[in-house]
Amino acid sequence: MSEELPDTAERKMQFLYALRSKGVTDKRVLSAMEKIDRGPFIRGYFSGRAYEDMPLPIACGQTISQPSIVGLMTQALRLSPRDKVLEVGTGSGYQAAILSQLARRVYTIDRHRRLVQDASVIFQQLDLTNITALTADGSFGLPDQAPFDRILVTAAAEDPPGPLLAQLKIGGIMVVPVGQSDTVQRLIRVIRHETGYDYDELRPVRFVPLIEGLGRDTA
Ligand code: SAM
Repeated sequence: MSEELPDTAERKMQFLYALRSKGVTDKRVLSAMEKIDRGPFIRGYFSGRAYEDMPLPIACGQTISQPSIVGLMTQALRLSPRDKVLEVGTGSGYQAAILSQLARRVYTIDRHRRLVQDASVIFQQLDLTNITALTADGSFGLPDQAPFDRILVTAAAEDPPGPLLAQLKIGGIMVVPVGQSDTVQRLIRVIRHETGYDYDELRPVRFVPLIEGLGRDTA
């Protein structure tokens, strides 16, 4: 029997309904998002709003993404259970936790050490043993672990970063928001072929910028 308070259960049902109504229809993605509670990834003042479909502030002046956008980006990756995935922009760790349910191995990197440390604690508490979280400048990817089947960038770049394109396997998929940080950006899906890359524009989005170099708390 569930020990959740009725209003928490109700809010979670509404959360899943909001995801479906905004186009998250992939059953595996929905079941991962049902299983991974967004609550533990949001601390302090905003924790009561975890089940609302909106981005919320986290430490280091960053944000946890809007759940429906997390779902749509995850869906756009077309993950298979054998995939090795790189996420650039750990933030709260929520997106990485969702990816961990759908892929074999997840590497997630952030330029802020504090975010990586906080997220790692939650991964341990939830026993998500297939996630490795590292502090690094994601503009350069993770050459030691490349190539990747899938790459997800959760901060906006002016163009898909060259090192990330190079670290994608042939047949691999990258999803990345592209555009200037203070305007509406476009979510792009890149598929690597033997002879080059195909680009497919998915939808308008708004993300914090991909910033080169490590955070001031880290460098
Ligand atoms: N995926 C996150 C989640 O589930 O909470 C949300 C990510 S937040 C919108 C964007 C993140 O990208 C921030 O945590 C920021 O520190 C990180 N970031 C920005 N530029 C970066 C870079 N060059 N390398 C690594 N992380 C970067």
